[in-house]
Amino acid sequence: MIGEVVGKEDPKELITSKRKETKRLTVILEDLENNRIGCTIFGEMVDQLLRHMQDGRVEPLIVVVQYFKATRWNGKTSVQSHFDISQLHIDSNLKDVAEFRSRLLGGEPSSSVRISQVPSKTAWSGVEELKQGAVLVKTIEEVLIQHEEGPTWIAASIVAINVTKDDWFYKSCRKCPKKVETPIENRYECGKCGHTHGSAALRFFCIIFV
Ligand SMILES: [Zn+2]
Repeated sequence: MIGEVVGKEDPKELITSKRKETKRLTVILEDLENNRIGCTIFGEMVDQLLRHMQDGRVEPLIVVVQYFKATRWNGKTSVQSHFDISQLHIDSNLKDVAEFRSRLLGGEPSSSVRISQVPSKTAWSGVEELKQGAVLVKTIEEVLIQHEEGPTWIAASIVAINVTKDDWFYKSCRKCPKKVETPIENRYECGKCGHTHGSAALRFFCIIFV
């Protein structure tokens, strides 16, 4: 898939289900017919792409994404990178990119900023979504027999929590998800972002059975 990056959210730091630190960045891609799609990338690709998105860039940023996974959420289709299989080609010399670029600009030089900041969906609330009735809540049985992949809401009660001793929570930095260890002179210092604070935040991580 080829497209121009026309919007970007703020990158986010997060912890994967394998407890690895990673980053996530969502950008909006647009094709020559002005169709748009959200594209979320993870890991090293985030820094790779950010390096090409300096403030005030007027050149169109054209990317080719390969082996991305399509997901459908809230009636909208988006794509996201999938482990190491996915490929992201940025500003590449591919013939398709050159063609896309010349059709996009029609031979004129580009003079305006083309990537706009998009508010990230941090304020997104699952409860709001449920209240509005915008999502379908399924039973476990319905989910077990459904064939399409994607996020889903289920109504269930927790019957067990899969934890061993005290590994289901950890003390973290208050600015990023990095784990912090013993305080130094009553302050926790984050080895990742350097933020120090008198107290640490507790983050939870556990697998539940419903
Ligand atoms: Zn931090």
